[in-house]
Amino acid sequence: MDGMRWEAQALAAAPDAMGGPGPALLPLAGLVRSVTTPEFAGITFHEVTSKSVLNRVPAGSKMPFEWTVNPYRGCSHACVYCFARKSHTYLDFDAGMDFDSQVVVKVNAAEILRKELNKASWTRQQVALGTNTDPYQRAEGRYRLMPGIINALAESGTPLSILTKGTLLARDIPLLKSAATQVPVGLGISLAMTDEALSEAIEPGTPGPRARLKLVSRLREAGLPCGVMAMPILPWLSDSDEALDSLFGSLAAAGATGVSAGALYLKPGTREWFMKWIAANHPELAGRYRRLYGTGSYASKEYRIWLAGKVRYFKARHGFSNSSGFSHRDLDDPRAEEAEYPAGIIPTGGSAAGAPAAESSGARPAVQDSLF
Ligand code: SF4
Repeated sequence: MDGMRWEAQALAAAPDAMGGPGPALLPLAGLVRSVTTPEFAGITFHEVTSKSVLNRVPAGSKMPFEWTVNPYRGCSHACVYCFARKSHTYLDFDAGMDFDSQVVVKVNAAEILRKELNKASWTRQQVALGTNTDPYQRAEGRYRLMPGIINALAESGTPLSILTKGTLLARDIPLLKSAATQVPVGLGISLAMTDEALSEAIEPGTPGPRARLKLVSRLREAGLPCGVMAMPILPWLSDSDEALDSLFGSLAAAGATGVSAGALYLKPGTREWFMKWIAANHPELAGRYRRLYGTGSYASKEYRIWLAGKVRYFKARHGFSNSSGFSHRDLDDPRAEEAEYPAGIIPTGGSAAGAPAAESSGARPAVQDSLF
């Protein structure tokens, strides 16, 4: 990309060490500048420098890791159901359109992480990426933060795991293979439907299901593990026998190491945005969703039990184990019910082997293709 053009689109810059003038547009800690570019129409990137990027998972969490790194806040993948939406309000953005279009970029993430990992006190516990927002969202094509982060973790002897919907991950397959010879590496793709039209409507900024299935195949062909998080399954939209059979059959054909599935979870901040979407896109379902979720975040217990039975059946039908996985609770809601991490996401060690597969293609939005 053209650095000059990028510079020319700068919206604002906080005073810097060189005395550069310009008030920050937002009260973001460490804001360097806010920029737009024609290549990412409609999205503003807020470049910040962070003092720390290694976050400890709150005590009491049942997640199978204690540390996370999130190089981006907000996510242009724009999934209507994204449970991280509310976290954007802590930055004075809204949980709806701002979450999709006002993306905070920790431009010094790799450098700061390296410093944190080099501390004598660092115990080299697993670090999880993709726990809040997607580290391979479109911005990563521009900022290339992940290679530095992966290198820093591998060179410090720290196991890592990555969960993403971004086919841009394919760019880093050689690096991940190399990292897997140094430390345990876990990889997970988030994919909960094979219906391209539904995906385009409800996850409009993501590479579509076909592209993500190809990514699963590429990772497996490269000798890397790849679990799949099949969440959220959407009541009346992606929970039919046909939809579940297609999903688990496609994941098996792609070679997924393991899969976990669960129903839509509507925490505050997400719920309002999702219900607006349902009312606009599937008005006939609006009342059914209100009744199914009541005033809470979860579908009724009866529905979840029904869905769990279906999932067990279709997993078994396509050769997936129903017993694998690690329990965890949602990141910032200690009341959240337990879910599982499928085999493949949790690093188990072993080295990568095999040649990279042919270039993936077929990502839905044209802009996604340019990121390979
Ligand atoms: S890809 Fe993940 S983090 Fe990004 S919007 Fe979708 S659910 Fe949220």
